[in-house]
Amino acid sequence: MRKFRYLKEVATLELDEERCIGCRRCLEVCPHGVFAMRDGRARIIDRDACIECGACARNCPVSTVRVDAGVGCANALIIEWLHEKGLFRNRSCC
Ligand code: SF4
Ligand code: SF4
Repeated sequence: MRKFRYLKEVATLELDEERCIGCRRCLEVCPHGVFAMRDGRARIIDRDACIECGACARNCPVSTVRVDAGVGCANALIIEWLHEKGLFRNRSCC
């Protein structure tokens, strides 16, 4: 799934890098490699790969990631994939 591309420059993803505690959880749960670590903090390295599944925001322990999640079937597919990998806490769907 890492080669998937969403529409350019439309993702609502936001990251407050200054508040990041470097736990790497967003890197673990993101199915598209949107984040990378630099100097002990998460950075957005590929915003256009974000499909707004919401996994990063739901799993960030300090709520420093924000995204308007909820893209119907894509959301359900990603949540199911995360469940299969044991990386998602809550099952929900539209
Ligand atoms: S919303 Fe989903 S695809 Fe986008 S950065 Fe977060 S985990 Fe990755
Ligand atoms: S989950 Fe939150 S605190 Fe952890 S690395 Fe990602 S942005 Fe930083």
